[in-house]
Amino acid sequence: MSEDTLPQRLQAIQGRIPSPVRLVCVTKQVPIPVIRQAYALGLRDFGENRVQEAQVKAQALADLPDITWHLIGHLQSNKARAALQLFPWIHSVDSLAIAQKLDQLNQTLAQPAQLLLQVKLRPDPQKYGWTVPELHAALPALSQLQHVKIVGLMTILPLGLSPGERQHLFSELPALGAQLQPHLPLREYSMGMSDDYPQALAAGATMIRLGRGLFGERPLP
Ligand SMILES: *Cc1c(COP(=O)(O)O)cnc(C)c1O
Repeated sequence: MSEDTLPQRLQAIQGRIPSPVRLVCVTKQVPIPVIRQAYALGLRDFGENRVQEAQVKAQALADLPDITWHLIGHLQSNKARAALQLFPWIHSVDSLAIAQKLDQLNQTLAQPAQLLLQVKLRPDPQKYGWTVPELHAALPALSQLQHVKIVGLMTILPLGLSPGERQHLFSELPALGAQLQPHLPLREYSMGMSDDYPQALAAGATMIRLGRGLFGERPLP
């Protein structure tokens, strides 16, 4: 894979993605010239997991008018205002407190961001996100929020599953969304990364988030 170029990788991936699915290119740690190359290839949705890194990139790419930025990492409450100014999509809403903060800030903003709730389909103390029982418990409070648009669910799978287990687990996300739909108008399922996106697509993903599969390995931290 490392010898392939970005256009080649992209072509191979696009051949596997049904057209209504949105490909979010994860540009964390990707240099600006490479992001420009992705843009020149027609990509417009870029995902970042840190507000500050995204702000720097958005500024460097300000001449490209139609980029859509997606926040895919944990959002701290003191960065919430800056996040709303940059990201039309926030995939990583992982607590009632941050959802309420975004709701409160949105009262003063013209364009409400579209929010996805990050769900842990299996309990994992190392990860951010709602467990399924936590999400059910928060539902009355979430459905009362007036100024945010909660439109979907996002998940990251635990490591070490077989392809069959991944697809099975991914399919729990749209099923959960269907259960919650009387309370929230959920229609987006953000699931699937470079190693597991085929299983996510088979399970009903509407957005996949690919980094290494497009841009190659990231440098080690
Ligand atoms: C880094 C990241 C991705 C992309 O992961 P790859 O394995 O590089 O495709 C997707 N989603 C989230 C939340 C990430 O942090």
